[in-house]
Formats: sequence, C-alpha cells, structure tokens
Amino acid sequence: MKAIVLVAAAALIAAPAAAETVLITAERMVDVLTGRTVEKPAILVEDGRIRQIGTQGTLTITDGKRIDLPGLTLVPGFIDMHVHLTGDPRISPMDSLLKSDSYWPVLGAVQARKMLDTGFTTVRNVGSGNFDDIAIKQAIDDGWVTGPRIVPAGYALGATGGHCDETFFPPSFERTSRGVADGVDALRAKVREIRKYGAEVIKVCATGGVFSRNTEPGQQQLREEELKAIADEAHMWGVKVAAHAHGTSGIKAAIRAGIDTIEHASLIDDEGIKLAKERGAFLSMDIYNTDYTQSEGKKNGVLEDNLRKDREVADVQREGFRRANAAGVRMVFGSDAGVMPHDMAVNQFAVMTRFGMTPLQALRAATSTAAEALGREKDVGAIAVGRFADMVAVSGDPLASVDPLLGAKAVVKGGVLVTDRR
Ligand SMILES: [Zn+2]
Repeated sequence: MKAIVLVAAAALIAAPAAAETVLITAERMVDVLTGRTVEKPAILVEDGRIRQIGTQGTLTITDGKRIDLPGLTLVPGFIDMHVHLTGDPRISPMDSLLKSDSYWPVLGAVQARKMLDTGFTTVRNVGSGNFDDIAIKQAIDDGWVTGPRIVPAGYALGATGGHCDETFFPPSFERTSRGVADGVDALRAKVREIRKYGAEVIKVCATGGVFSRNTEPGQQQLREEELKAIADEAHMWGVKVAAHAHGTSGIKAAIRAGIDTIEHASLIDDEGIKLAKERGAFLSMDIYNTDYTQSEGKKNGVLEDNLRKDREVADVQREGFRRANAAGVRMVFGSDAGVMPHDMAVNQFAVMTRFGMTPLQALRAATSTAAEALGREKDVGAIAVGRFADMVAVSGDPLASVDPLLGAKAVVKGGVLVTDRR
C-alpha cells in the first residue's frame, strides 16, 4: 500500500517540475491593460509563466506542447475577490449540524473546481473555519486536486456577538469563533495568530451582516481604532486586509483605518465614495447573489429574518455600485459565492454591466484591478509577459457584451488546459 502511494506522489511531483514549453494560440486576445484586442495571438509559456507574446507565424516552437483554440477569444483568468468555498447554500443550517467537521474542506475542493471550470483561476477565500481554505490551497498547489489559485484568510476576525462570531447557538453551547477578539491589543494578537497558520489576507467583520443572527447590516461592530490596529498590524507583516462592511459608518471607519478592500459596501454614501477614491480603497460589491437568495433561500432553509436583511440591502447596494463606479472608485469582482452555488458566480458580470459598467470595466474588475487589490500584479490579472499563463477562452466579443464571459469554452491555468468545453 505504501509503495503505491509513493509511486502516485512521484508522478504528481514529476509533472510540474519538468521545464515545460507550451504555445497557446487563439483567434484573438483581449489585453485588459491597454483595452485593445490582438488578432491571431501566439503566447509562449515556460514553466507556467508567459515568456513571450507574439502573433501566429512570427512566434512558434519546434518542440513542446501546443494549445490551439481556433475561433475563440482569450481573456485573462478571472479573479473572484470574495468567495466561501467551504459551504453551499443548498445545505440548510440544520443539515450542516449533521456533517462531520472534516466534511467542509472536501466540499470546498469540489467547489474550487467548479469555480475554475467557469473561468476563475484565482479566488480569495474570505473566511472559513478550521483553516480549511489553507488546506485546500495546499492540496491544489501540491497537485493532488485541480483548482484555482487560492488566497486564503483562515478565520475571519470580529467582535464578540458580531457577524463573524458563532451567532446561532444558545449560551450553554459556549460557541465562539476562533476569529473573535475585542480591543486593540487582542485584535493585533489575532492578526498574528491567523497569519501564523497561513492566512494570506486578513478578513475582518466591521459591521453586522445578512446571514448572522442578532446583527444588523447597518450596525458598526468594531471601533475605528480597532480596525486601524488590525490594518496596521497586517500591513506590518505584509498582508492586506478585507473588511466586511455593509453599514455606512462601518464602511467609512474601515476606509479611514487604511483597510485595503471593502466587502459588500451596501449602504455606502457619497462621503464613503469620496473617501474610497481619496484613500485608494477597492470596493468588492456582491451585487448578484440577492437574486439567488430571494428565489431559493426559503426553500434552502434560510430564516425569514435573514431574507429580510438581504432584501433591505439589495437595491440600495446596486445603486451604490452604480454611483461608486461612475465616481471612479476602483471596483473589483467579489461574488460571495457560497451564498449562491459557486458555478453561478460568473453571472455577476451581467449585473455589473446592468448597473453601469462597460464590459471592459467589468472584465478589469475581475482581472487587472483585482490583481492590484491583491498586490499580485506580477502574477495574475492579465495576459502579459512574466505573469502566470492563466486565461479563459470564450466565443464572441467580450468587449461588446459580457455574455461570452458567462460561458467559458476552455480554461488554462499555468499553461495547462484544465477545462475544455468546446
Ligand atoms: Zn462573504
């Protein structure tokens, strides 16, 4: 038995270790950095990264692999800045209590693959119990399972009784999330603890939320000095911070605290939009999932109080998105997949253009702008020399309409054709 395991491991390790050259060709390619379309591109990949970009005929290889995608348009692999891989809305809160603790990372690996198949070659997982997202990332990076690049947060930080605490249990259960801390010093220590075990971004809940109990989206739950302590500590360690913030005051406190990305931003006002622009904060607004929650939530066992909160922030968030985008705030694609099935996240592109974005703006939100928000411009977010060869092949013109982005025909991650739906 042991020998078989070792043989399997050796095969896995040998595959990516060999210096490998791949030539990728397609009908055209969108360069999101310039906004231009390149006809008949040929992309030379070495060891997973783009070495050279030319055109067919001028750039070719004598040996190595080829991935030819005739008739299709290449766009950079998508980045979803707000996902929860270790969940599924179709598992009711009651049913989730019947699962063993290690059920969730197994489920998460399946969800990760679904996101990859729809074009997401990088996802930022903003919160999971038991450091599950870090384990999934490790299993993908080691080649045991196929999935997107993951930027994991581990446990989300938050106040006692706040959105990121355990809020559905009676006192005798004594349930507190490991991410909970109160006060400046305790939160600083919590940043260090979560980072120690592999978090590559710190997620913090600055306000109440939709799917917790006894919290309201508009309610601020950490003081600005606490948010600032988290941001300063994380930045000292070279880690960025994502703040869940629906409420107007919590959004502004998080931006003033120096937090990098504001999640949801549902009740943002004009002052918040101005602050986000001045301070360079990115907004990650999940403006699609309410459609799913309102149509399927009741059937899935979501409580009426949670459905009510979702309704209350839905339309105002979409109008806030329109105003923030028009004001020139840097917008990134964040779906909150997990609240809806993961293979539906891609549908958010259509809502983003319905609420004011051009197709190029929506595509940039999920590629080059998201890469900036991650601080990973050298790795992901564009089909450009030096970056990973992560790309999605679609039919039609994604700069005329985002519809082609909703139906990826093929997905390439690190120069490997991981999904082929032609
Ligand atoms: Zn979320």
